[in-house]
Amino acid sequence: MLKIKDLHAKIDGKEILRGINLEVKAGEIHAIMGPNGSGKSTLAAVLTGNEAFEVNEGAVEFNGQDLLDMAPEDRAREGLFLSFQYPVEIPGVSMTNFMRTALNEQKKHKGEDPLSASDFLKLMRDRKKLVDIDSDLTNRSVNEGFSGGEKKKNEIFQMAMLDPKLAILDETDSGLDIDALRIVANGVNKLKRSDNATILITHYQRLLDYIEPDYVHVLYKGRIVKSAGKELARELEEKGYDWIKKEFEE
Ligand code: ADP
Ligand code: MG
Ligand code: MG
Repeated sequence: MLKIKDLHAKIDGKEILRGINLEVKAGEIHAIMGPNGSGKSTLAAVLTGNEAFEVNEGAVEFNGQDLLDMAPEDRAREGLFLSFQYPVEIPGVSMTNFMRTALNEQKKHKGEDPLSASDFLKLMRDRKKLVDIDSDLTNRSVNEGFSGGEKKKNEIFQMAMLDPKLAILDETDSGLDIDALRIVANGVNKLKRSDNATILITHYQRLLDYIEPDYVHVLYKGRIVKSAGKELARELEEKGYDWIKKEFEE
């Protein structure tokens, strides 16, 4: 599904990603962990097409297409979903209208007819149930005045509605309470299928108490310096990142 080969990216002339290699197959959940400032959010930003970053080397293939050659909106239409570490607010646009527009855009791209109002509402009810979102966030303006936890819920709901092939979830390094962690974990677990995949970027080992990743990678100084199964997350929880830094420096 996703093949990242020797990816280098910089901002303001400073190289942040220094040769990332990663392959994600359908059905897999990958966790990317690592100390603050190692380049985790940069990787997410580059994959979704944030133009602040310049890719100066490497290639990324997404479902057989050259991802780096695609406009951000085309990446989304092809089934790439990114949760934002800092979600935008859109005053005056309700979540319902926002979702309907986004979904119908996607349908148009696939050459399908837009959903009828009743089918759309049915889908909304369905997806809310699936990810256990009972509150009435959908009538409010997108993210406007939402608490951190509500933004998270909203994000997972958007993901459930758009049904992406590949979701990249970048979790904040701080401020996610246990409730928000559970919302994220529950959403990821419920939406997991053999034909989709998730990259979970997290500073928190705790999140992995609720989600079983197939692979855990440690990103350090712009490179993936260690990859293993879920036991690696446990090890990091016990020992922190210092041993990885030491191993890498050697
Ligand atoms: P992480 O998500 O792993 O904490 P980031 O990808 O946010 O790390 O940041 C990696 C490095 O890139 C840091 O040194 C950070 O200061 C730098 N960086 C990120 N965004 C910018 C930016 N917009 N301008 C300049 N430097 C940036
Ligand atoms: Mg950070
Ligand atoms: Mg980050």
